Amino acid sequence: MSERHAPIVESTPVLTLHWPDEAATQAWAGALAQHLLAWPGGRDACIELRGDLGAGKTTFVRHLLRACGVQGRIKSPTYAVVEPHQGTAGDQPWHIWHFDFYRFNDPREWEDAGFRDIFAGPGLKLMEWPDKVAGQLPAPDWVIAIEALDESERRVRVQAGTQRGAQWLHSAQGSYWLEGPRAL
Ligand code: ADP
Ligand code: MG
Repeated sequence: MSERHAPIVESTPVLTLHWPDEAATQAWAGALAQHLLAWPGGRDACIELRGDLGAGKTTFVRHLLRACGVQGRIKSPTYAVVEPHQGTAGDQPWHIWHFDFYRFNDPREWEDAGFRDIFAGPGLKLMEWPDKVAGQLPAPDWVIAIEALDESERRVRVQAGTQRGAQWLHSAQGSYWLEGPRAL
């Protein structure tokens, strides 16, 4: 039997942000960490990072990981595809998975590497180059697309892809954190 379903998220607005420099990126990532700890299910969020090479995806993730209380050296997952981390901010430790699918070529690897289990389990999932595994990933709660305007200035678009992601976005809409000075 085939049935047509309405899309899970109806016409989610795209929020456009502006990060004038890396300090702004860091501040926004820090605030996001606090929200993820507070939102129901926030610690299990699935977030895609999009943008060209050098846009600032990894830089953003690093600031977010630090703000989540990740200690020690933060390796980029470019070669390993995934780097596991532990968030220590909040009441108890929690899993964080940082994926970079740039070099991911073989779809069979998805099963072999245990990615299916990771995505079915708890923990924050941050994905760079999600296009390389299109069709395998679950719907992301948020897509964060970063665009470099010059050396340090970034234009950022945030869009929800799930119902709870839309709720999180909605709950933060109008806040200084999410929208910057113009929201005041
Ligand atoms: P990507 O992962 O998207 O390929 P990286 O994070 O590796 O990009 O590189 C982004 C580079 O841009 C870093 O050297 C970072 O220091 C620099 N940068 C300058 N301004 C910003 C900003 N506002 N946000 C993020 N990165 C920035
Ligand atoms: Mg990167």
